[in-house]
Amino acid sequence: MNEVKRPKKPLLYYYGIILLILLLFNLLALPRFAEGQLIEVDYGTFMSMTEKGQIGRVELQEQENRILFTNQEETAIYKTAMVDDPELTQRLHDAGIPFYGQEIRQESPILSFLLTWIFPLVIFIAIGQFMSKKLMDRAGGANAMSFGLGKSNAKIYVKSSEGIKFSDVAGEDEAKESLKEIVDYLHDPQKYREIGAAMPKGILLVGPPGTGKTMLAKAVAGEANVPFFSMSGSEFVEMFVGMGASKVRDLFKQAKEKAPCIVFIDEIDAIGKKRDGQMGGNDEREQTLNQLLTEMDGFEGNTGVIILAATNRPESLDPALTRPGRFDRRVPVELPDLQGREAILRVRAKKIKVAEDVDYGKIARMASGASGAELANIVNEAALRAVRSGRRYATQSDLEESIEVVIAGYQKKNAILTDREKWTVAYHETGHALVAAMQTHSAPVQKITIIPRTSGALGYTMQVDEGNHYLLTREEIENKIATYTGGRAAEEVVFGTVSTGASNDIEQATKLARAMITRYGMSRDFDMVAMEIVTNQYLGGDSSLVCSMETQTEIDRQVVEVVKCQHEKAASILLENREKLDELAKYLYEKETITGEEFMDILNGRKSA
Ligand code: ADP
Repeated sequence: MNEVKRPKKPLLYYYGIILLILLLFNLLALPRFAEGQLIEVDYGTFMSMTEKGQIGRVELQEQENRILFTNQEETAIYKTAMVDDPELTQRLHDAGIPFYGQEIRQESPILSFLLTWIFPLVIFIAIGQFMSKKLMDRAGGANAMSFGLGKSNAKIYVKSSEGIKFSDVAGEDEAKESLKEIVDYLHDPQKYREIGAAMPKGILLVGPPGTGKTMLAKAVAGEANVPFFSMSGSEFVEMFVGMGASKVRDLFKQAKEKAPCIVFIDEIDAIGKKRDGQMGGNDEREQTLNQLLTEMDGFEGNTGVIILAATNRPESLDPALTRPGRFDRRVPVELPDLQGREAILRVRAKKIKVAEDVDYGKIARMASGASGAELANIVNEAALRAVRSGRRYATQSDLEESIEVVIAGYQKKNAILTDREKWTVAYHETGHALVAAMQTHSAPVQKITIIPRTSGALGYTMQVDEGNHYLLTREEIENKIATYTGGRAAEEVVFGTVSTGASNDIEQATKLARAMITRYGMSRDFDMVAMEIVTNQYLGGDSSLVCSMETQTEIDRQVVEVVKCQHEKAASILLENREKLDELAKYLYEKETITGEEFMDILNGRKSA
């Protein structure tokens, strides 16, 4: 869409700059120009030039204690210091040189004052007027005399043929379904008015970052072919109290003039956070929020202004904002599932050249948990990789490698591991894969690699689920924990010692074990009591404990027990399959990267290392 930006700098800013330049010019530059023309000579030269009749005229500046004089042609001005010389005037008179005291030039300071101060001031006011008129024209006659203070700087996307449509937003069918009604309303508000149905004034799009909330809002405007005002919540909050509120007023004024239209407020939690009533709260933010609430109440349901807002922290919003009559409809925009990921990959792949035999389903399975933005990034990364390798289109392997780049960073070409370290990493990764493969409820191994990555990982094992997975059973979680501990277990079984390579595994295993006990009710003692609540669902899922100190101690004890139990299980699996472990680790050590099929073939004895 075409983007038209509102003027951002207030007029006062331009006036200030001009005034400053003038001041500097007058104070510094002008006197220098004047001084620069004077040639300084000594009093003797002045006397001898007088005697020789080489002087045009003389000005005696007693106050400044100096004499200015010109040559006969009056082309140069000389300056000399005044000396106590009572006969000077007589000598000048005798030589017939016209000379003046300072009072003769009384009018010149006034003239110079006029020239240096009044004249530029007039010019400056004229320029100011001219610019204010221009800005007023650009702002569509908006209130320019407010000197631009508190004007909303919403970006407007006007109608354009290349606007984003629903078809550009892949997956997210449920979200699109609820937004289609809005499009229909914007097309034909009369239909709704006749029956007396009021559209929701505000719709809140909630979901993790990068799932296409902004895109969906733009698509609504694109489909309905109406102007789209977009502003981020943080843009309202200014240094001065009251500016945010006046920006909100201005935004709504503009929107009402352009109705029907869409107003999109991104990251609304920046202004819509709960007012907690604490002393010394953020006055500016609260005023802005109050103004927003008032504005939303102030217009009738059928004016044709629809407000869309996006946030990934819905729980932090003020309840007044989410009550019916304001943002009363909430549209979840979740991370895409398998089909969604495949659809997004296909949509994004249309923008680049790809080989015909690409298996999007497989890529989508590999990129489990990725958001739309990450998938877009994966496709772009694949295109870049194709260019780097001198190919004219991206292939399946480009896409697969770019998933790994997004997950684990680029391959570190010059990382040199010692032989012993490389063996450790090979056994560690084989340990994960073998434990995963020997348990029934684990996702199949897709790839194992021991090429170091820029993220710091020295190797990794990729497991890919076959389809969508919405629920995890206790056994599946336990198996996951066992798989995480498999790497360390292999080191213990083979080398009899441990390394620092397992720190990430330890973190992941602990997280799962803790969640089993505090949130999923999978412990023996706590039954279905929540010991932890998730506070930031869409942004990493931080959680806080809600239990007594004694219970916390007990939770810690049980977490250790769960992990320990799975660690032992992993070690015994590896001990039982020690030969396979050696065979696979040797193969991995030599090849550095092996596929899931190769792994399974060796494991099942179909192939020897
Ligand atoms: P959000 O506002 O939810 O953080 P955006 O709408 O800004 O996310 O999405 C960021 C980028 O991710 C988009 O520009 C687009 O390239 C890509 N993207 C996200 N979701 C989708 C989707 N469902 N279909 C196609 N592209 C998507």
